[in-house]
Amino acid sequence: MSLGSIVRTPEVIVIGAGTFGAVLASLLDRPPNGLRVLLLESGFLERTEHIQNPPALDMTVPPPFLKPSGAEDTSNGGGWWRLPWCSDSPSHGLAYCVGGRSLFWGASCIWPTLDRDNTRHPWPTQVAQELNTRYLPAAAELLGLTQLWPHFTGQLNTLLRGRLLAAMSTHHLSGVETLDRHPEHPAAQATRQVKQIRRVRRAMDSNANHLALRLHLPMAIEVRGDTDDPQLLRFSSAAVLAEQLRDATDNLDLVPGCHVIRLWTKNGRVTAIETTRGLIAVPVRTLVVLAAGTIESTRLVLDATAGNPSAALVGRGLTTHLRSNLTVRLSLSAEGCKCPGGSGAAALQLRGIRREPRRPDIRFHHQITAYGVGSLPDEEAKRLWVNTPRTDVESLDHALRTNPRDLVVTVASAAEMSGDSENSVTLLDEHDEFGARRANVRLAPSAVDMRTWDALDDSADATVAVLASGHPYEVLRAGRFTATGGSTTTGPEERREPLGCGHHEMGTLRMGQDPRDSVTDSNGRIRALSNLYIVGPAIFPALDSAGPVLPGIALTLRLADHLRHAVSRGGKSHVRQANL
Ligand SMILES: Cc1cc2nc3c(=O)[nH]c(=O)nc-3n(C[C@H](O)[C@H](O)[C@H](O)COP(=O)(O)OP(=O)(O)OC[C@H]3O[C@@H](n4cnc5c(N)ncnc54)[C@H](O)[C@@H]3O)c2cc1C
Repeated sequence: MSLGSIVRTPEVIVIGAGTFGAVLASLLDRPPNGLRVLLLESGFLERTEHIQNPPALDMTVPPPFLKPSGAEDTSNGGGWWRLPWCSDSPSHGLAYCVGGRSLFWGASCIWPTLDRDNTRHPWPTQVAQELNTRYLPAAAELLGLTQLWPHFTGQLNTLLRGRLLAAMSTHHLSGVETLDRHPEHPAAQATRQVKQIRRVRRAMDSNANHLALRLHLPMAIEVRGDTDDPQLLRFSSAAVLAEQLRDATDNLDLVPGCHVIRLWTKNGRVTAIETTRGLIAVPVRTLVVLAAGTIESTRLVLDATAGNPSAALVGRGLTTHLRSNLTVRLSLSAEGCKCPGGSGAAALQLRGIRREPRRPDIRFHHQITAYGVGSLPDEEAKRLWVNTPRTDVESLDHALRTNPRDLVVTVASAAEMSGDSENSVTLLDEHDEFGARRANVRLAPSAVDMRTWDALDDSADATVAVLASGHPYEVLRAGRFTATGGSTTTGPEERREPLGCGHHEMGTLRMGQDPRDSVTDSNGRIRALSNLYIVGPAIFPALDSAGPVLPGIALTLRLADHLRHAVSRGGKSHVRQANL
């Protein structure tokens, strides 16, 4: 659609049709009381489905790279990925396309703990309460977390879960929380779905307590097809948007290929949006929502509020998660899995807390995913791989080469950062290809973070030892499985992800009750600008080790409700499109 053909006055302009922007625009468009929405997106609508359903192996995330200040502009791996900011930590950048990173994400949704007493930046009380009681359950529903998928009941899952439960009952896993302190699984939380819960409980082993369901990893996966041959579809926001556009209420205009360069402001409000397709005037009553990813949204706010004393905190307090990955190959010995032909898959979680004297508690978790291809023919093994969470092209290769009695297990671990380091997003004096000041990301771990990372890795090693149940295992190192002789696994450089690669950046536009300690109010509106809102992890005051998508979608639902009330209807404003 050309910009010139848009004649209706938008009530809300959303910038960025990625994970949260596409969902927000779709929600706002829905009846009753759908709003007129203009959605500006730098990329294009080329694919609506997650890259793993059906798998598009040539479309995985390209390797990260380091872009120091002053370096030549390079696209990151071609295709949709591009790194627009400079940083001291390697990064993949952004997927410039409708759906954004939701086309690539892992789809795991650890339940967040928001109302914590001893956190550095607490969530506003009312926001935490509304998210816990209303919006997180609604987000779980939207993402498909309340649906149960076949891995829950498979024998491989049961075997590995049993080993974890046994170790937890004898306190063999240091820092790991007791089962009753793991949050309920969203399927069990959805009390409306009583039948579903009964089915889950029936499906679990007769001996196991239903609490064990708490060890199952919530995944944003929709199960279609019959039980013998299920099709698992990972959530993508592009699919949500495409469906909404198909329903054609005529209230929603998507403008792809429209990169936002800067926001123009006057008298404390955004008055125009400068884009690669021209300048879009913002009518007096129109609200603008930035959903361009944490760093890009922060860049635009930094530029728009430069020199404004009430925006002094913009860009400060950047955090992400400390992340490590450990992949091992276990042998399914005779006492092991009775899965047909040794095949199957599993997805589990373990939650933990690390404590240091006189410091807020630090939360961490391990996501455990496993598959064994058994004696399946290649095509079926490939399908099993596709259906297993947290996979990449390299692991497909391993899947196809795995011995029928072997099991490949990945423990992906994440922990909170302490927030001690002066991590930030700032603006450089150098300009990008559009003439905008480039963002600079400073992201380094503090001494406390390094101690947390050591503890996280030790805990992952202990978890693997429990899963192997005393049997020898091999560790994936530089693309090869290597025998370890039992206890030693991999060094930090082999398993730790650079901080810039996590895609969990947050906190640079954090919300709060106190203007002295926050950039946005409890609705995510920039305090310094009356009509500019933010959606996405940039406004999280803090997050435990949970991924950003579940709390981000919960906030998106809450913002959609707020905007419906905030938009004042019946104004005489018009869209003026200068220079189009
Ligand atoms: C491989 C991978 C695995 C992940 N796994 C998980 C997981 O299991 N669980 C979890 O919770 N999270 C996971 N994440 C993180 C999660 O996907 C991201 O945090 C989330 O998708 C970010 O959403 P967003 O809307 O903020 O950004 P994006 O989805 O990146 O959307 C930003 C959008 O803005 C557009 N845009 C950017 N700049 C401009 C501009 N100037 N003008 C116009 N448009 C612009 C982009 O094109 C894009 O469409 C993963 C991420 C990746 C990449």
